[in-house]
Amino acid sequence: MEKLGQNYKVISCGDIQSLGRVVLHDTLALTGAEVSVNELPAGVSVPFVHTHKNNEEIYVVLSGKGFLFIDGDEFEIKEGDAFRIDPKGERCIKAGDTSSLRFICVQAKANTLEGFTETDGLPAASKPSWL
Ligand code: ZN
Repeated sequence: MEKLGQNYKVISCGDIQSLGRVVLHDTLALTGAEVSVNELPAGVSVPFVHTHKNNEEIYVVLSGKGFLFIDGDEFEIKEGDAFRIDPKGERCIKAGDTSSLRFICVQAKANTLEGFTETDGLPAASKPSWL
């Protein structure tokens, strides 16, 4: 599926069970964040430790188990966990030895969020057929 309107774009990422890694910045022409859907197969690690210049990262673990290395600490992460890492946090993620790890990662410039939900959302006059 792909739909494009004046104020939106919809794509299909494909089979969510076999995506590997999908990065949405270019595909959706994102302007304020990068979003990736990631899967590390069992036993596989991101092959480097990294930081960011400006972006915080927000992770949501969708399924599986794994490990997070962050600033020298190492601990288990699992389905349902969510975490935020400051730009300077030195991070690496590994899937568990017997479990793949699927997660979403959102990157956004740290300290730029000025409003959200009720403080940024505005009611609009139009209505969908189901309201
Ligand atoms: Zn990163």
